Amino acid sequence: MGLIVQKFGGSSVRDKERIFNVAKIITDTYKAGNEVVVVVSAQGDTTDDLIAKACEINENASKREMDMLLSTGEQISISLLAMAIEKMGFPVVSLTGWQAGFLTRSNHGAARIRRIKGERVRRELDNNNIVVVAGFQGLNRFDDITTLGRGGSDTSAVALAAELRADRCQIYTDVDGVYTADPRIVKDAVKLDEISYDEMLELASLGAGVLHNRSVEMAKKYHVNIEVLSSLEQKPGTIVKEAVKVEKLLIKGVTKDENVARIALIGLPDTPGIAFKIFSLLASKKINVDIILQSIGRHNTKDISFTVPLSDKDAALALLHEKFDVVGAERIEADDNVVKVSIVGAGMQYNPGVASKMFEALYDANINIQMISTSEIKISVLIERKDADRAVVSIHDAFDFKDN
Ligand code: ADP
Ligand code: ASP
Ligand code: MG
Repeated sequence: MGLIVQKFGGSSVRDKERIFNVAKIITDTYKAGNEVVVVVSAQGDTTDDLIAKACEINENASKREMDMLLSTGEQISISLLAMAIEKMGFPVVSLTGWQAGFLTRSNHGAARIRRIKGERVRRELDNNNIVVVAGFQGLNRFDDITTLGRGGSDTSAVALAAELRADRCQIYTDVDGVYTADPRIVKDAVKLDEISYDEMLELASLGAGVLHNRSVEMAKKYHVNIEVLSSLEQKPGTIVKEAVKVEKLLIKGVTKDENVARIALIGLPDTPGIAFKIFSLLASKKINVDIILQSIGRHNTKDISFTVPLSDKDAALALLHEKFDVVGAERIEADDNVVKVSIVGAGMQYNPGVASKMFEALYDANINIQMISTSEIKISVLIERKDADRAVVSIHDAFDFKDN
């Protein structure tokens, strides 16, 4: 018995059958004597459909109005889910993000949670209600509705679990755990029993959409163990937590990130301060730069290329062209025909040969590497977009994942 936060993603509530299936999981947990707080996402493809609808009206709609629209998706699912639970004869109340006290920073579309005023949810729990909260949304200091970024309901759930000091935080989805690669791409991907916060954070940040990366960041900060499990089958999932049993696996996963573009500045002066100028310019517009490659100077010039999120490519190019004189390049090139494929695992810190194994797998598949970046627990390569899935499968094949 305890307080349990359960989060259900869009596919878990996509239609009437799925809503009742989820309502059964929730009410069974409640019947067992637990306090239950539920966080729910918009049904199925609702968020994508709303974005398409907005584009029909205005392709450049303000982020404020987009948040106003997108937050409605979650309001539909909380009320429908609460109605199903009511019908099953249990006490329930649905709450929007703002009713549940989610206060966020002001940036629309990717707002961070500032804090949660948990009184309302606690009061509803004290009244023996099952509480169903809309994920992905909050209110900023101007009293405007914000959303937390795509996939953000995971973060709502973990934040609520931290605020309420929940005993468990369960993220129910359409896979039964975190796998060594996206099971939709790699058929023999292996389910992990557990994974550390640091590894999961890397995987999520490098494209593994199974958890929102900020939810993992938040879980690590507030020591919330996350259980990732299936809403369709009853079986143990994956636990995301601090310490993991003795490392058996060299790497925990292979992932791809398609939200990436490469920008090259050709013929820059080979003098001090150039990199500082370029990257402070990009930072001033909050454009995140990832892999950076600088050529060795020749004839007093050098080239610098780097990756940015594909969604920031146009803004980055506009800025660099606008400041063409300051940047001092002969030419600016951009390429969005690229993807980033990465391997992640704490085991690679102590074992030589992991990078060469990854590169050999790419060589065997005849895939050319354009850029490489590494950290203690990950290696990323930039390759041509068309090779992405083949690269993930080939790299996955090269490592032994059976004994996790
Ligand atoms: P939800 O709607 O429940 O939030 P998501 O679609 O956001 O679900 O996340 C689940 C999906 O994440 C899975 O269907 C799977 O295809 C994808 N995925 C990507 N990488 C992984 C991975 N390493 N392990 C498990 N699932 C992954
Ligand atoms: N509905 C939102 C999205 O599609 C949030 C979420 O699913 O977590 O991104
Ligand atoms: Mg999700």
